[in-house]
Amino acid sequence: MLNIEEIRSQFPILQTRVYGRPLVYLDNGATTHKPLVVLNKLQEAYTSFNSNVHRGVHALSDKASVEYEGARETVKRFINAPLVSEIIFTSGATASINLVAFSFGERYISAGDEVIISEMEHHANIVPWQMVCKRKGAVLKIIPVLDDGTLDMERYRELFSSRTRIVAVTHVSNALGTINPVREITRIAHDNGVPILIDGAQAIQHGNVDVQDIDCDFYLFSGHKVYGPTGIGVLYGKSEYLNEMPPWQGGGDMVDRVTLEETTFNELPFKFEAGTTNFIGAVGMAAALDYLKSTGIEEIGLREKELLDYATRKLEGIEGLRIIGTAPEKIPIISFLLEKVHMYDAGMILDKMGIAVRTGTQCAQPLINRFGTDGVIRASMTFYNTMEEIDALAAGIVKVKEMME
Ligand code: PLP
Repeated sequence: MLNIEEIRSQFPILQTRVYGRPLVYLDNGATTHKPLVVLNKLQEAYTSFNSNVHRGVHALSDKASVEYEGARETVKRFINAPLVSEIIFTSGATASINLVAFSFGERYISAGDEVIISEMEHHANIVPWQMVCKRKGAVLKIIPVLDDGTLDMERYRELFSSRTRIVAVTHVSNALGTINPVREITRIAHDNGVPILIDGAQAIQHGNVDVQDIDCDFYLFSGHKVYGPTGIGVLYGKSEYLNEMPPWQGGGDMVDRVTLEETTFNELPFKFEAGTTNFIGAVGMAAALDYLKSTGIEEIGLREKELLDYATRKLEGIEGLRIIGTAPEKIPIISFLLEKVHMYDAGMILDKMGIAVRTGTQCAQPLINRFGTDGVIRASMTFYNTMEEIDALAAGIVKVKEMME
């Protein structure tokens, strides 16, 4: 059992008041708050070992490099990657996907080839693939979403052809909360001889992720959604692909030898880390992963299931409220619409009550449009939320209805 009061005291921002009311933060899918251990680690980094990594022989640079490479080890252990050299630091999930789409695309995708994504993807896992398909003359094929917000697995099986080069799907939907069966999705891709990228941006903070168990070829996430700092993210990739893929950005640290005529490249993972990386962000993110581990990933999962069940029951009881996304396996995200109130009106009135929810397309326009709307209201919870906050949301929605209907 988690001690929620004690946990909340570790997140200073949760004590904030907005418009004189206690903050009820239900926008954790967009970004999560940071516990003191992360904030303290960032302060320690800037005040005691700030110095560029891998560059100097002096003590501070050495300490910063040791911390940075230690963070890589922490990430490796957290997702159970086989090799530390398969962990690449990026600026976030979006950058990780763009890296793979560009670099894998350069090496493996040609005119007439096919890429499979799903209708459920965040724009970050749609647009880079559209860009590479356009550049290469390849074709994007789409796994449809069923009415409950799960993927149409039958249709998925039928999408493969001898021209399929890669599958890219999300582990968890940011708009609906659906947890996809990524082991099965991966097995099907591999049965067809095709590698797979899994977007873990909404999964890593909610449960155990074991990339060897999933057996995916690429996995990625952002630091800021897993209680770490912004501007840092991870790409895990199997060396058999990463070694073959060309670098996607040039500059310092990714080189081996440079002449004015040509350059040979560094080994993994540095080949994909051009320029000064966000080494302080990496150290802060590692502190966040350690925090999650010590809090207990299983316990967090159980707590979040309780929150999801309670919130679903509460919101289902409100007349004229339609929940979009009713998959059997979900993280604590509830997207909904009100029959007679526009989402933006609802979002703005809830805000005045101190309740932060997300309104709009959720950066997943194709998915939202598939449900016959141009936006939803999304409450995304995490383990530090309370049942009282869910009560406040439900009461707030009832108030909105009274005011607007
Ligand atoms: N993928 C999913 C499923 C997301 O929810 C998000 C952000 O909301 C992203 C990718 C992009 O993450 P970032 O903006 O941190 O790069």
